[in-house]
Amino acid sequence: MDGICKFCNKQAKLVESHIIPLGFYWQLVDENGNIAKLLSPFDDEHPKRQPNGFYDYFLCDEHEKQFSDVDSYACALLRDSNPKEMKNGWEFSDVNYKLIKLFFISMLWRAHWATNIFFKKINLGRCQ
Ligand SMILES: [Zn+2]
Repeated sequence: MDGICKFCNKQAKLVESHIIPLGFYWQLVDENGNIAKLLSPFDDEHPKRQPNGFYDYFLCDEHEKQFSDVDSYACALLRDSNPKEMKNGWEFSDVNYKLIKLFFISMLWRAHWATNIFFKKINLGRCQ
């Protein structure tokens, strides 16, 4: 699919961009191997299965790849590490603040550009 990359603003072949990295979907499979349904934020919409996650086409290949390091870091930290459980959350040690901050900002930015109704209420305003 050709279009304008939302990062570089150039005409390019757009590639599949996951809004929430696929590495985070391991929790959506229950003990029987069934893919869990995601709840809809809308009262009139039934829960749906999203086995391949949420993705859209708004980045060229070069700029999609730039999220790889922060996505990998966030998966390793949030999914694979063993944080200390606290009263109101978890405490992670040895966190690369710059990378985890970039991860959350990038996920929000990707959600802004996603056309799926799941992200409909995320609007960062003008982003170019
Ligand atoms: Zn680009």
